[in-house]
Amino acid sequence: TGIEELLLSRIRDVADYPEPGVMFKDITPLLADPAAFGALTDALADIAVRNGATKIVGLEARGFILGAPVAIRAGLGFIPVRKAGKLPGATLSQAYDLEYGSAEIEVHAEDLSAGDRVLVVDDVLATGGTAEASLRLIRRAGAETAGVAVLMELGFLGGRGRLEPALQGAPLEAL
Ligand code: 5GP
Repeated sequence: TGIEELLLSRIRDVADYPEPGVMFKDITPLLADPAAFGALTDALADIAVRNGATKIVGLEARGFILGAPVAIRAGLGFIPVRKAGKLPGATLSQAYDLEYGSAEIEVHAEDLSAGDRVLVVDDVLATGGTAEASLRLIRRAGAETAGVAVLMELGFLGGRGRLEPALQGAPLEAL
């Protein structure tokens, strides 16, 4: 479709970043193009509305850049999920495994509650570890998930399969 081609044309492949052997998908050319950024925002906001979301969770850091305008466009609140140690209030934390070692993400406990249907927004789904941990946080806060929406899914890393149990039937939509 037209939008897929537009979005793809604004994503730059950077070889050997952040380490040798990795082909990094750089979205900064897309952010610099208001037509592409606007089309992306509209498409993600449509996913939020279609799935009955009541809140948008954005994953640090590029999920903040994409998720904030989506929340405004869809008329929903924006909730940041941050790396451990960055949020000042009472938090829920969730650790998850990386290839080497582990990471931890947090959300303000008071930002999510029973009755919320939360759409998780991020730029890239790779192994699915970050998105899976965010879905656990959402559920532990007592909220429901409306799904996960990303610009791009790196299918060869198998993130969709890893995410599936945590999605509990909610959709993973990749533009
Ligand atoms: P995962 O937890 O799915 O392995 O990694 C996803 C997280 O890492 C996302 O928050 C995403 O922003 C970042 N990420 C991993 N690979 C890439 C990439 O090639 N390009 C960009 N822009 N982000 C990536």
